[in-house]
Amino acid sequence: MRHKYGRVVSKDKKIYHDSWCPYAKNIKSDNKWQTSNFRELRKQGYKPCSFCQRPPGIAYYYRTIEKLDCMFDKFSNSICVKTSIGFWKAVYGKEDRLWRLYHMNSFGRDHFDPDLNPKELVKGRFHRQKDVAPQESFESILNYILAHDKNKRIIQEDYRKLPKSSKQDRKYYYAAKNRKKRHDINKVFKLFDKIKMEGESIHNGRNDENLHAEKGGKTKGSQRI
Ligand SMILES: [Zn+2]
Repeated sequence: MRHKYGRVVSKDKKIYHDSWCPYAKNIKSDNKWQTSNFRELRKQGYKPCSFCQRPPGIAYYYRTIEKLDCMFDKFSNSICVKTSIGFWKAVYGKEDRLWRLYHMNSFGRDHFDPDLNPKELVKGRFHRQKDVAPQESFESILNYILAHDKNKRIIQEDYRKLPKSSKQDRKYYYAAKNRKKRHDINKVFKLFDKIKMEGESIHNGRNDENLHAEKGGKTKGSQRI
């Protein structure tokens, strides 16, 4: 999407940005134009934004190295960040000038479809990311997102590989451990159900249709245990 719209330009400051850049969102409309003609920009003496367009700008680094996909959504006054395993929304509070972070998982409950365009994704259901306080800088938000997704990737592989050095690290570690435990217990229950149902269907000689109806009732029953 950002390629489609090219760059946003501040005419008086002679700087160009990605359209989602937090430093571009306050440019007044009569001082702004969108272009993808870089030759013309350079010829007219426009400079790249040091945050989103060139190193050592942290957003530049994340966009090029970590392949983040970002978009500014003017309706919710937020910057959306799509990573390989999550979708994030950082909402800027005009009153307190702080960024608040919201999250949508790529799996589990309220998950998003990674093939969807971020313009569609932004309308989905987010939850407030409670362990990150409102931040003054968008850089801190990006740092949090990267650390979070890195941990998530480790958990998917093996939670025991998570770092345990800081208090926050240990909190994540034990949360992941408990999640894994719950997941394993559910798996065992499901296995019991399956064995039980298979046993019953063989015993009673039921057809597939009856077995299917039976399945719903049995699953609910096992959860009450
Ligand atoms: Zn910028």
